[in-house]
Formats: sequence, structure tokens, C-alpha cells
Amino acid sequence: MGSRRDFIEKMSLTALSLPILYGSTPLFAAFEQPYDAPILRVAIMGLGSYATRVAKAMVDCKRAKLVGVISGTPSKITKWQAEYDIPEKNCYNYANFDSIKDNPDIDAVYIITPNGLHCEQAIRVAKASKHVICEKPMAINAEEGERMVKACEAANVKLLVGYRMHFEPKTVEVIRMRKAGEFGQPKFFQGQSGFVIGNPDQWRLNKELSGGGAMMDIGIYSVNGARYMLGEEPIWITAQETKTDPVMFKEGIDETITFQMGFPSGAVASCLSTYAMRHLDRFFMTGDDGWVEMQPSTGYGPIEGRTHKGELSQPHITHQTLQMDGMAQLIFDGIQPLVPVDGEEGLKDLKIIDAIYRAAKKGEKVML
Ligand code: NAD
Repeated sequence: MGSRRDFIEKMSLTALSLPILYGSTPLFAAFEQPYDAPILRVAIMGLGSYATRVAKAMVDCKRAKLVGVISGTPSKITKWQAEYDIPEKNCYNYANFDSIKDNPDIDAVYIITPNGLHCEQAIRVAKASKHVICEKPMAINAEEGERMVKACEAANVKLLVGYRMHFEPKTVEVIRMRKAGEFGQPKFFQGQSGFVIGNPDQWRLNKELSGGGAMMDIGIYSVNGARYMLGEEPIWITAQETKTDPVMFKEGIDETITFQMGFPSGAVASCLSTYAMRHLDRFFMTGDDGWVEMQPSTGYGPIEGRTHKGELSQPHITHQTLQMDGMAQLIFDGIQPLVPVDGEEGLKDLKIIDAIYRAAKKGEKVML
């Protein structure tokens, strides 16, 4: 372990290089000065594929550190302990993790389990007085999301959602440009989010664990993207569902949904969410004075894109590293990203997804 002085020196060096990397977007402003800051000590719950990616990315974090694990599989715990130097006292299973309340060495729990488990797990973490970081979708419907927000408010802990794109440099630049009026009045957003899902036995195709199909998993990126690219909340939704494989995509598991959203300014969005088509990771937005196209737009990167002014040239930095440092900044220093990552933000997406499902089922326009 390095000394405190080493740490401060490392921070100062990093701080010197960061303005070049990030420009002067407010999100990263705190990194521009040398600082002696607390580290967000995180336990990850659910040691699956995305958790593995997050843990690797956290090795490069300056302000967040993986210090604990919660898993139902003892062999995974042992492996993670060895890989990340995690002490036995910071290891829990799904039956005993409420006792994390008595562990002063953990600040936050990052829930990376199947969607249908997020709500009850988040409420238990909140009751244990630890900050909750929860993967997207925050829950499987707005009613669950509301319970999570209330539980975290009652426990006086933060509820944050793993919206990694809100920290991604090219995305942040586009949001900055939109806020600065560089596109003029945004008029139209197009979001295409999809991939071909593989193994039919996975939890993503089990309604109880997933809460739905492609919309919950990948379509949510177009829902969230429409909101941050246009800078407004939708007031109406229309949606159409297409199913070509009812064996793979059972009742309640959407294969493909096209949906449209209308916004108070008159801006409109047209989006596609699918588990059955390839090469779909694209955002386009046009306004009165400019436009932006991003493809890939929400994958793990590098994100690529161009605007009416030319190529977006911000560097690729592992999204989850930026996200976890940004979340530490938010928790300790109150510095908000340009677009929130809190429970209210997660809830907004869930209300829209509920409305998309209602609109697709009824075949009618749904007002929000
Ligand atoms: P995964 O199947 O790889 O991992 C899920 C983990 O949860 C496994 O370790 C599994 O053992 C554990 N688990 C605990 N209880 C379980 C139960 N009852 N049934 C099944 N598994 C159980 O899934 P994943 O791809 O890591 O996804 C986990 C979460 O992360 C999801 O909410 C997903 O939407 C989200 N995710 C987010 C991103 C992103 O880019 N932000 C990417 C992938 C996944």
C-alpha cells in the first residue's frame, strides 16, 4: 500500500493530465486541482459478466475502490478475494448481507444482479445504511423504482444508477453543446438500440428476473439517450411490438419494439429496441442550427461521432472507471454530472418504459 503522501502526489500528477483529457466540462472540474480526497469503498453484489467488467475498470479509479463482494457462489468469492485483495470480513452472501450495516469499511454497494432482484436488494442495502449504486434498469417498473427512491431517502443514503454514458467524454461533449445552444432548438432524435440475444436459457429471457425483453435491457439506452440528447421529458408515447420468434420471446418478453415520443417543445423521437437485429447502436439528433450522429453510441467504446462542426475527438476512457470516479465525486463533493444519475433519473426512464409497454399493448397514444 502506498503512503498517504504517495497518494497525494499521484493525485497531483493525475490532476495535471486530466484537464487535457477532459477539457473544462464541469463534471470533471474537481480533478483539475490537486486534492486529498476520501475513497469510495464499494462492495459489488452479483459477480457476473458486467460485474467483472466493472471490477477491472475500478482498478484504474482514483476515487473509488472495490473492497467487498456479495455473492451466492463461494468459489467466485474466493477467486475475487485473490484477484482484488478483498478481506474475508468484507465478503457476504445473499442471506447475510444485511449485516454489512456493521461494517465501517464499506461505503456503498453496487448491485449488478438480474433486474428483477434490484428493488428488494436495494431496499435491504439502504436499510443497512449504505449508499446504493444500482445497474440499469434500476428496477422492472416505476412502482418498484418509487419504493427504492423512498427507501433510500428514508435511510438518508444516495441512490445512483449505472448510467455510464453520462460520464463518457464524447457524450458529455454533445450534451454540453446542446446545453450551450450549439445545435439550436433540437427537433428530432433517432435512437437505434439492439443486438441478437444468444442463449435462450438466460435470465434476460425470464420475465420474473428481467422484467421484460430488449426494452428493459438495451432499448433503455434509446429512452435515456432521447432525454439527454434533446434535453426534455416526453409528454406522449406511441409504440408497436413485433415478434418473429414467440418460442424464444415468451409472453412479457419483447423482441422488437419501435416507439415514438413527443416533447413539450414539439421535438419528436423515433426509436428501435430489439433483441433480434444486428449492428444497431446509433444516435442521431438534429436541431435548427446543427446535428450530431454517434455510432457506436452506447457500447463499451470507443464511441464515435460527428457533428456539423466535425468529428468528436474526445478520448476513449473506460466508461466504468469514469463512472465510479464520478460517483465518488458526487457522493463526497456533491458534484453532479451534466445529466443526473440518481434514483429520480432512473425512475423517469422506468415511467417511460411502463408507458411504452402500455402503448404497445393498447395500440394507442399514451400521455405522460
Ligand atoms: P450476468 O448473468 O452475467 O450476472 C448476473 C449475476 O447475478 C451472476 O453472477 C449471478 O450469479 C447473479 N445472481 C444472483 N441471483 C441470481 C438469480 N436469482 N438468478 C440469476 N442470477 C443471479 O448478468 P450481467 O450481464 O452481469 O447483468 C447484471 C445487471 O447488469 C443487469 O441489471 C444488467 O442490465 C446490467 N448490465 C449493465 C450494463 C451496462 O453497460 N451498464 C451491461 C451489462 C449488464
